[in-house]
Amino acid sequence: MARYETVIGLEVHAQLKTASKIFCSCSTRFGVEPNENVCPVCSGMPGVLPVLNRKVVEYAAKMGIAIECEINRKSVFARKNYFYPDLPKGYQTSQFDLPICEHGRVEIVTAKGPKTIGVTRIHMEEDAGKNIHSATDNASYVDLNRACVPLIEIVSEPDMRSAEEAVAYLKALRSILVYLDICDGNMEEGSFRCDANVSVRPYGQEAFGTRAELKNLNSFKHVQKAIDYEVARQIDLVEDGEKVVQETRLYDANKGTTHSMRGKEEAHDYRYFPCPDLVPLVLQESWLEQWKGELPELPKAREKRFMEQYGLPATDAEVLTGERDLAEYFEAAVRAFNEPKKIANWMMTDILRELNATGGSVAELKLSPQHLATLVRLVEEGKISAKSGKDILPELLETGVDPEELVKAKGLVQISDTSALAADIDAVLAENPKELADYRAGKTKLMGFFVGQVMRRTKGQGNPAVVNQLLAEKLK
Ligand code: ADP
Ligand code: MG
Ligand code: ZN
Repeated sequence: MARYETVIGLEVHAQLKTASKIFCSCSTRFGVEPNENVCPVCSGMPGVLPVLNRKVVEYAAKMGIAIECEINRKSVFARKNYFYPDLPKGYQTSQFDLPICEHGRVEIVTAKGPKTIGVTRIHMEEDAGKNIHSATDNASYVDLNRACVPLIEIVSEPDMRSAEEAVAYLKALRSILVYLDICDGNMEEGSFRCDANVSVRPYGQEAFGTRAELKNLNSFKHVQKAIDYEVARQIDLVEDGEKVVQETRLYDANKGTTHSMRGKEEAHDYRYFPCPDLVPLVLQESWLEQWKGELPELPKAREKRFMEQYGLPATDAEVLTGERDLAEYFEAAVRAFNEPKKIANWMMTDILRELNATGGSVAELKLSPQHLATLVRLVEEGKISAKSGKDILPELLETGVDPEELVKAKGLVQISDTSALAADIDAVLAENPKELADYRAGKTKLMGFFVGQVMRRTKGQGNPAVVNQLLAEKLK
């Protein structure tokens, strides 16, 4: 395996969070009746004219600015011609040789360290509708709600050299889109999708090998597995003296394999030409200035700030800023209790474990950041033991109740009051004269016994640190 190098370039489609479609005023809302969000423009009626949605331009340009692209002051819409029932116009309005953004870069970090991935271009285009095949009706239907929904396509340079790098690049892109609030980043629902172009070449060879384009990758795990499978398949072919053919391959998530969908012979000739219905798009400098000024703090900048402002280690800062909601949750908790590293510890372990286990999002967490802060404070101030804190967390996550109330209701408040504990200790020493004598005769191991007895008397509510300290003094 090590004799071959993997080469990967990704094409990412991100659905933009605009209220209306790219060329008409229909809503982009989902979950409505089929063909509810449809008008003569997006259903491809003859004689209609498209009107470009200004927000789409703004969002595409903002993404371009965020990943350091050159923003073309003039860009052109083009028709990509092909026939399919979900495309009533017979062409997709996209951009071809003059896209809105070019020559960007995305910074990634993998186990091998940091690396810059080049972005060839970002262009704007419309989505197609959806064909629905019904076995019960023995019929096929076309739903045009999604037709004309705005997308940006982000095309990378063939700069990635492993599936890990491809996944890191995708995560970085997704995170930036979500921070910009221009895409919801949902891979399963298809608002963030990716095709992976994969080839192999012997180490030291400059020319790229022939690539296959992998489709149907709707999670980061699928991207990783599909690429790993494809690389092994291509190396096997080359080792056997056979040739990799240029083709589109579908990933089968159940089998973990890829299979041929269409070959190069059937590759489309889209006969792109400039769309005569849309004038060239010319951006004004004042718009660009405004959009630049509106960019929020982006993931990398926030990661750096988390290390500087909160003194977090690099891993904590990276994980906690990877998702915008998670970063905001962390900062809200720190505002409520200013112990950043302690809050980070709880989030990096218990909260992330919960999110992984339930597959839920940060927004769905019932435990508010303020309540997490309360819980951490109760433990740090010694009001409850660390163990009690961990014990009640599942209930807090499930119910969202105030930790202070729950601790009271469960009687978990620790006794840290030295005079109360001193009385318990005196009682324990009085009840166990033999052990006391043995201890004083040198059997210091009995310390554990005394601590245990005091904890029993306090029903586990004695603050262990205080008990230990008081006992040590009394036994001297
Ligand atoms: P197409 O329009 O046919 O999909 P492009 O030239 O636009 O082809 O390339 C699409 C993607 O494929 C880009 O992300 C590019 O980086 C990547 N790519 C091109 N050649 C290779 C190769 N030999 N191996 C891997 N990826 C490649
Ligand atoms: Mg392609
Ligand atoms: Zn419409």
